[in-house]
Amino acid sequence: MARKWVYLFTEGNKDMRELLGGKGANLAEMTNLGLPVPQGFTITTEACTQYYEDGRQINDEIRGQIAEYIGKMEEITGKKFASKENPLLVSVRSGARASMPGMMDTILNLGLNEEVVETLAAKSNNPRWAWDCYRRFIQMFSDVVMEVSKSEFEKLIDAKKAEKGVQNDVDLDAEDLKDLANQFKAKYKDAIGKDFPDDPKVQLIEAVKAVFRSWDNPRANVYRRDNDIPYSWGTAVNVQMMAFGNMGPTSGSGVAFTRDPATGENKFYAEVLMNAQGEDVVSGVRTPMKIEEIKKTLPEIYDELIDIANKLEDHYRDMQDMEFTIEDGKLYMLQCRNGKRTAKAALKIAHDMVNEGMIDKKQAVLSVEPRNLDTLLHGSFSKDTVKKATQVGKGLPAAPGAACGKIVFTAEEAKKQAQNGEKVVLVRRETSPEDIEGMKAAQGILTARGGMTSHAAVVARGMGACCVAGCSDIVFAEDEKSFTLGGKTYKEGDVISFDGSTGNIYDGALPVQEGAVEDDDFAAIMEWADEIRTMQVRTNADTPTDAKKARELGAQGIGLCRTEHMFFSGNRIDAFREMIVSDTKEEREAALDKILPLQQGDFEQLFEAMEGDPVTIRFLDPPLHEFVPKDEEDIEKLAKAKGKTVEQVKGIIAGLKEANPMMGHRGCRLPITYPEIAVMQTKAVIRAALNVQKKHPDWTIVPELEVPLVGIDKEMAFVKNIIVETADAELKAAGSDMKYKVGTMIEIPRAAITADEIAKEAEFFCFGTNDLTQMTFGFSRDDAGKFLDAYYDKKILENDPFAKLDQDGVGKLMKLAVKLGHETRPDISIGICGEHGGDPSSVEFCNSIGLDYVSCSPYRVPIARLAAAQAAIKQSRK
Ligand code: ADP
Ligand code: MG
Ligand code: MG
Repeated sequence: MARKWVYLFTEGNKDMRELLGGKGANLAEMTNLGLPVPQGFTITTEACTQYYEDGRQINDEIRGQIAEYIGKMEEITGKKFASKENPLLVSVRSGARASMPGMMDTILNLGLNEEVVETLAAKSNNPRWAWDCYRRFIQMFSDVVMEVSKSEFEKLIDAKKAEKGVQNDVDLDAEDLKDLANQFKAKYKDAIGKDFPDDPKVQLIEAVKAVFRSWDNPRANVYRRDNDIPYSWGTAVNVQMMAFGNMGPTSGSGVAFTRDPATGENKFYAEVLMNAQGEDVVSGVRTPMKIEEIKKTLPEIYDELIDIANKLEDHYRDMQDMEFTIEDGKLYMLQCRNGKRTAKAALKIAHDMVNEGMIDKKQAVLSVEPRNLDTLLHGSFSKDTVKKATQVGKGLPAAPGAACGKIVFTAEEAKKQAQNGEKVVLVRRETSPEDIEGMKAAQGILTARGGMTSHAAVVARGMGACCVAGCSDIVFAEDEKSFTLGGKTYKEGDVISFDGSTGNIYDGALPVQEGAVEDDDFAAIMEWADEIRTMQVRTNADTPTDAKKARELGAQGIGLCRTEHMFFSGNRIDAFREMIVSDTKEEREAALDKILPLQQGDFEQLFEAMEGDPVTIRFLDPPLHEFVPKDEEDIEKLAKAKGKTVEQVKGIIAGLKEANPMMGHRGCRLPITYPEIAVMQTKAVIRAALNVQKKHPDWTIVPELEVPLVGIDKEMAFVKNIIVETADAELKAAGSDMKYKVGTMIEIPRAAITADEIAKEAEFFCFGTNDLTQMTFGFSRDDAGKFLDAYYDKKILENDPFAKLDQDGVGKLMKLAVKLGHETRPDISIGICGEHGGDPSSVEFCNSIGLDYVSCSPYRVPIARLAAAQAAIKQSRK
C-alpha cells in the first residue's frame, strides 16, 4: 500500500508534529478544538525527505495524493480552483517540527489568475482588494518560487506611488493595482522567459517544491545549526484556504500572545494591522497597533480572541503565540505555538504557572530553554549612567539587554567588523531573515519599523540579542548610509547605545554593566532543577575570582583548574620562564621553588571558594614554548636572571620549538621527562589542602590531582607514582590522614579504548572533549574554522564538533571508556570538562551515558544545571 503523504487538518493532532510539523499539528489540534481555522491539508515532512531523496523532485505518488486532497479540500470549503462562481485561494506554508520563524517561505493568495481576479472583484464588489491580492501573489510567487527579487517589485510600487502622489500602499486604487499586476507579470516574463502560470494546480506544485527547497536555504541552515535542529527532519507544507485581512476597514491581520513574551507578565498581548495581509505584520514593514484599539470598532472580535487565547493556553498549558486574521468582521485562527520568550519571561511564566496550578515543577523546568539563561547574565546600563546620558529617541523594548557600539547598516558589514573584533550595532529600516548572521555578530539591533512581533524582535529574543524595534523617529537618508534621530545625523562608525528593556536610545558610548541573576523566578526554577537533576555541575576555573563567580552561580566543585593559566597574571611568568629554560635538574628545581608558593596560594583560595566540595587540579599541560619570551628585552631579562648569555637562552628557546606542538612535548610527557615538575605541583596541592582543612575542620577536603594527556597506562602509573610518593611524604610530615585522589583526563583516543587498563591506576576520569574531539577527528582546534563552512555546505557536518559534542564518534569513545572504566573500578567517578560541558544537548548526552558530573565555564553553570535537570526528566521518561 502506498504511504500516506497528505493529511487533512481533521486527520491530525498536536502529537503528530514529527510528521506534520509544528504548524500542521497545531492547525489540526485547533480544528479538533472547534476553533475557526480555514481548512486545508498538510503534506508531511516525510514527503520533504522523499523530495530530496528523489533528487529534488516530487514523485508521482505524492503528486497523486496532493491532487486527491485538493479535491477533498474543494468539497470541504465549497470552493474550487479556478472556479468562475466560487474560486478557491490558498496559502502554502512551511512548517518544520521545531518552529523556525521566518526562516522558510510562505506564499499567499495562490490560485489567482486574471479570470479569477475578475470573478472575485465582481462577487465581492471590491475590485481593489482582488487586484491587491493578485499583485501580492505574483510578487511572492516570483520571489519564493522563481527567486526574482522582491525589491524589483517594490521599485515598481514606489514608482506608482510617486506617479499618483501618494504615501501609502493603501492609497492606491483598483486600477493602479491592476496596472501593477500587469507590470509584475511583464517583469516576471522578463526574468524567467515564460508567462506567469495561470493554472492553480501548476502554481501549487511549484509552490510546494519551493517550500521543500527552502528547507535548504542558507538562512535556514544557519538557524538550524544555532538551534540544534537536524537537517534530516525536513519541513511539512500546509495548504490552507485563505482568510483575507485586506478586504477593508473591518479586516486585518495580527499576532497575539497569551502572556507578555518580553516580561512574562500574565497579560494578554496582541497587535493588529487593519486592512492588511499577515506578511505585513510579521515582516515588520508596517507598524501595527495594540489590539485594545479594536475594542470599540470590533468588540465581539476582541472578546472572541481573548476567549480563544484562554482556551489555547489552558489546553497546551503553556504561553501561546497565535496568528489570526479578521476577514470582514469574522475571526480566523491561522497558527498557534508555544511562544518564543525572553529568559526572564520564561522563568516568570514557569514559576507563575506552577503557582497557578497549571503545570508541575518538572514541566516548569522543561519549559525554560537553558541557553536562553545566557541573556540574564547579559548587560544593562546602570541608573546613574542613564541619568547622565543624552537620550535621542525611543523605540519598542523588543529584546532585553544593553548594547553599545559603532553603527553599521548591513548584516555583512556587522559580520565583517565583528570578526575584526569591533563592537558594532546593526541599524536597519527593518530586518529580514537574511540578516541573521549579522544580527548575531552585533551587540544589538535597532530598527526603524516593525512591532514587538516583527522579525527583528522575534529573532533577537530567541538568540538573546538586545533589540530596540520600530523607532519611527529614525529617518534614513536616501542611500540608507546615514539617518537622523533626535536632531542628530548618524553615519556608519558613529557610536550609539540602546536599552532593549526600555527601548531608550542614547547618543554615544555608555558603559554596559554585567547582568545579575538575583531574581525570585530564577531562584525558584533553579531550586527545582537542582532537586530534579542527578548529575553534579562543576566549573572550569583557573583563578580564585572565577571560582567565586562560579560558586555564586551554583557550581558544586571545580572540574578543571588549568594550572598553567595561573601564570598569565603580573610578573609570575618570570619564575615560570626560569623553569623552562633550565639546563639541569638543579636549575629547574631552583625555579620550581619560586613557583611553589604562588601555586600553593592560588590553590588555597580555590579550596576556600569551594568550601569542601571537590576541586580537580590538572597538572601542567601545554607545550612549554607557549610560555617562552618572544621579544629581545624579555629574553635579556631572563638571561640575566638565569646567569646565562642571551645566545644561550635563545638556543634553549629554539630547541623547544616543535613542528606539531599540539601533539608535542606537553601533558604527562612533561613530568615524564622532568619528574620534579610533578613533585612541585603535588606539594603545592597537598600543602594548600592541608592549610585550608586546618582552617575549616568541618569541611572534608579531598584534593583531586589530575594527569593530562595520558594515552598509555604506564604513563599514568609512572606519574601517579611520583604524586603518591610526594603526597604521602607531605601528609606524613604533617601527621595528617587526609585522603586525596589521583586521576586522569581522557582526551586521547587510545586512553578511551584502553580505559580498563588506565582505570587500574586512575581513581577518576574526566573527559577533555576539546582535545578528544581534535584527536578523534584529526581536526586542529585552532584551524578547523577554516574549512568547517565547506563541510556545512556539503552536508558532511551539520555542527561544529568543538561546540556540539559529536555523539556518534567522540561520544562512542566516551561510552566505551565509561563502560571499561566501570569494569575495572566500579566506583570510579567520571565527568566532562570540555567546552561541551555547558552545551545543553551535550549535557543530555553525558547524562544518558551515566557521567557523574559536567564541568563548564562559570557563566554556563546555570545553563548546565537546568540542562542536567531536563536531561534527568527526559531520561526517566524513556
Ligand atoms: P511563518 O512560519 O514564517 O510565520 P506563516 O506560514 O505563518 O509563516 O505565514 C506568514 C503569514 O501569512 C501568517 O502570519 C499569516 O498572517 C499569513 N497567512 C498564512 N496563511 C494564511 C491564510 N490561509 N489566510 C490568511 N493569511 C495567511
Ligand atoms: Mg507564522
Ligand atoms: Mg586537553
